[in-house]
Amino acid sequence: MVDTDHAYMQMALEKARLAPSFGEVPIGAVLVMDGQVLAQAHNFRELWQDPTAHAEVVVIREAATRLGSWRLNGATLYVTLEPCAMCAGAIIQSRISRLVFGAMDPKAGACGSLFNLPEERRLNHRVQVMGGVLPRDSQELMQHFFRQLRSTETQPLGDGNGQVGAAQGKEHHWSTVNGHWQRKA
Ligand SMILES: [Zn+2]
Repeated sequence: MVDTDHAYMQMALEKARLAPSFGEVPIGAVLVMDGQVLAQAHNFRELWQDPTAHAEVVVIREAATRLGSWRLNGATLYVTLEPCAMCAGAIIQSRISRLVFGAMDPKAGACGSLFNLPEERRLNHRVQVMGGVLPRDSQELMQHFFRQLRSTETQPLGDGNGQVGAAQGKEHHWSTVNGHWQRKA
């Protein structure tokens, strides 16, 4: 592990902590190149109503714009949760050299859980991957967020399996489809 990995992951966690006040799932990302932070963000999916606005995609776009180049060779992307297939694809497309993530996402992770796209041998570009950096901080943020959401949005409390019955008799289902927790009406 590189010395600075913890520091950048803390920075990503700080971004993640800001997300719930905007109704966003607490996931944060930081993009670093040559010791410089090019971009940092949490999810913007709710704020922008954009299904592609995962934290990873947001920082990749911002960094490419700042550099005036879509090629991010040499960059390291830090993200608090294992990226989904879309974000793993964006990481590969942008030629990012290294990916460091926090908690695994067994339901939708594409960097070792369900798939392992960054290390897929059939692709030309391969990404060096390191997971499990401060995973508990990330997990606790996620768990706290969804506990809060369940207790404020729905009555009575659900059955603990991500399924909750709402006061209106409407059921909400929470899942990690597409890499991030989301509610299906
Ligand atoms: Zn994603």
